[in-house]
Order: sequence, then structure tokens, then C-alpha cells
Amino acid sequence: MKLSLIVPCFNEAENVQLFQEETIKAFQGCGYSFEIIFVDDGSSDATLHNLRKLYEQQRCPVKVVSFSRNFGKEAGLYAGLQYAQGDYISLIDADLQQRPEIVREMVDFLENNAEYDVVAAYQDRRREGKILSLFKKTFYQVINKMSDVTLQPEASDFRTFRKSVRDSILKLGEYHRFSKGIFAWVGYKTHYIPYTACQRAFGTTKWSFRKLLNYAIEGIIGYSTAPLRLSTWLGGLTGIAAVLYLIAVVLQKLIWGIDVPGYATIIVLILFFGSVQLFCIGIIGEYVGRIFEQSKQRPIYIAKEVLLPQEGKKP
Ligand code: UDP
Ligand code: MG
Repeated sequence: MKLSLIVPCFNEAENVQLFQEETIKAFQGCGYSFEIIFVDDGSSDATLHNLRKLYEQQRCPVKVVSFSRNFGKEAGLYAGLQYAQGDYISLIDADLQQRPEIVREMVDFLENNAEYDVVAAYQDRRREGKILSLFKKTFYQVINKMSDVTLQPEASDFRTFRKSVRDSILKLGEYHRFSKGIFAWVGYKTHYIPYTACQRAFGTTKWSFRKLLNYAIEGIIGYSTAPLRLSTWLGGLTGIAAVLYLIAVVLQKLIWGIDVPGYATIIVLILFFGSVQLFCIGIIGEYVGRIFEQSKQRPIYIAKEVLLPQEGKKP
């Protein structure tokens, strides 16, 4: 098998067949074999039903992995990688925002440039609101300052890479997965190409602002211990401020004999220090939580159904 396309699907019932058709069209006459690995991420619509149909038809080699619930796109990609048998592996969305023709270009590039292991696409023009793009920009500035690896702000997880990269990614068995960080962490020489995201074929985006925010926190906590240091610094600074204030209060009392009329001040200080403490405990908790999750060694996903091409069946 030359190429494996990994397609995470969450409520993409209308898109999956179209995706397969477009992919077959895009690879017509390419001269090599490819398989599509659909990962149904616990969809509540007819996605699995439609995937079964595609599997039955086998118009091109199709594998289907169906999760017992929604585990998230990252888990879907991980499952896809486990089942991928191609020399090249491609990660692509089901909604046709990312065109299969570009995957063909990516494969051609890797074929002709042995020194590169990864081709990653980045969006040249983003169709998103100003607030969201500001949020994203700030996120990357913050995380790249704090983290050991450098994340490429524009690069998406729409990419194609060699088998060796897949093997490396699979070695990272962390439960909390953040693929951008994982790609940056495993390294390999990466070539970036621009692409324009098309409109979603059907359905709506699965990313709410809350999901994006959680994803951002995942990236920061998963790839840096700087927040822990931040809490140490915060503790130190507020400690110094408290001592200074204490000196001021004592001097006021001793020199000027002013009784501190401090009710409001005390309340404000209690609230302030209380919230700083909670904030720091929260940061520590984020890490402890991850240690806890990881120490349980839970699987990254649970597959309730896996459909693999059988021997003897037409390709
Ligand atoms: N997806 C998934 N699990 C999720 C959310 C999304 O497998 O919990 C899939 C989704 O079906 C799609 C891809 O991830 O194939 C990208 O999602 P979406 O198109 O909603 O994101 P956007 O393109 O808006 O960033
Ligand atoms: Mg999309």
C-alpha cells in the first residue's frame, strides 16, 4: 500500500461518501494504491451507517474504526495511525475543506524530495473572525515563549508524512493529545505548502469556542511547565508586596500613630491573596490531573467496531 488517508469523522453523515468520491477522482491515474481509513468518533447521526455502506462497496480499500463514544479528533487520528499501512500517511478532514488533490501533490513532493519527511499545509487565507484570529495569535505567542518546542502557528494537521514519522508519533502514547505539539516534538524535516480552505461541504464545524479554549490549555499544559514556575513567581512577588505593606503599616503606627482604618483594605487583600492561591492551586491541579489520568493508563480510545478489508475481497 502506498498511501493511507486518515479521516476523522464526527457527525459527517452527508460528507463521507462525497469525500470518497472526490478522493477517488483526485487519485485517478496516479499509478499507486491508496486506502481510506475512516474513524467514526462516536457520531450520533448516520455516519457509521454510511461508512458501513462504503466498506461494503470497497470502491477503493476502505477501513472503518468506530469509537464507542466521542473521544475527540486527536484520538481519532491516533486510531487511524495504528491501522495505517501505507508508505505515506495523510491526515485530512472529512468535510472537504481540505482537498484530496493537495494530498496527491504532497505525495509527489515526498517522492521527489527524499530529504523531507513531512509536508504540512497551512491556510494562506483564513476565513475566521478577528477575535478568534487574535486569540489564536496570542496563544501561539504565549506557548512558543513558554515551551521547549516551537509550534508553527499557521500549520494545520492537514499533512502527509512517511511511515517513519507515523511510527514515531505512535510511540507518544500520552492520553492528553495535542497533535500540533506532537508533530513539533517528533521533529523531522517539514516542508510547508499554502492551501486555501474550501467551504465545508455539509454540516457545521465541531469546534466551539469552549473546545478551542480547552485545546489551547491542553497545548500549554502539555508542552510546558512554565505555568508552575509562574505560580512560584506570583507567590514570591505577592509575598514581597505583603512585606512592604506590612512595613508601611508598622511605620504608620509607630511614627505617626495612625490606627489603620483598614476594613476595606483587609477585605481586598484577603480576596486578592485568596484568589492568587486558588489560581496557583488550579495550575498545579491541571498537572496533577494529567498525572492522574496518565497513571491510570487508560486507552486513548475504545473501538466498538473495526472493519478491515478481508482477504480475497476485491481491493
Ligand atoms: N472531528 C472529530 N471529532 C471531534 C470533532 C471533530 O473527529 O470531536 C473531525 C470532524 O469530523 C472533521 C475534522 O475533525 O473531519 C475537523 O473538524 P471540523 O471540520 O469541525 O473543524 P474545522 O474545520 O471547523 O476546524
Ligand atoms: Mg472543517
